[in-house]
Amino acid sequence: MKNYIAFVFDASWNTLKGLWVTLKVLFLPSITVQYPTEKIVPYARFRGMLAYDAEACIACGMCVRACPSKCIALAKAAPAPVSAPVEGQPAAPAAKPKIEWYTIDYGRCNFCGLCEESCPTKPKKALWHSLDYEAIFSTRAEMVRRWKRGDDLWGTARKTADGQLAPITDQIHIQSVPVRK
Ligand code: SF4
Ligand code: SF4
Repeated sequence: MKNYIAFVFDASWNTLKGLWVTLKVLFLPSITVQYPTEKIVPYARFRGMLAYDAEACIACGMCVRACPSKCIALAKAAPAPVSAPVEGQPAAPAAKPKIEWYTIDYGRCNFCGLCEESCPTKPKKALWHSLDYEAIFSTRAEMVRRWKRGDDLWGTARKTADGQLAPITDQIHIQSVPVRK
């Protein structure tokens, strides 16, 4: 009888200890999010999908040389014609080179960040890792993003059956998703 009472007491005590742990966390804020309508925004130094701004790019090719995976390619636009100097006026500064097209093959990218580090454009960066960690690829060809002047930060890809370049409409912009603080 004595052993039985000790057993019941021990089991009850352990049950109460478990319930106390549950009670302690019951009213704390939840750490789970309602994915995909709600997402956790990564830290500022997170290396997400590369975004590219063709207007800020000066077609220097530093990112191409820095990339260890050889996944960046570009073509410079033809230089603008230089107007003849006007007598008595300072010569117009040479126009910065512009890009004709620019591509990144995400199938080969290892998100090392060396291209962003090597990009000399300041204060507005031409190439940087965004905070976006989601991308949808259905085919190998879709992994090659291509930009030209006038495209948005996500560029275009061959998403249609006929292989035509189409804007990226299914890229989820993490910054525009409700954030759980
Ligand atoms: S993150 Fe690294 S691997 Fe990817 S494009 Fe930039 S340099 Fe190349
Ligand atoms: S993205 Fe930056 S490093 Fe690459 S070509 Fe343009 S300006 Fe140069």
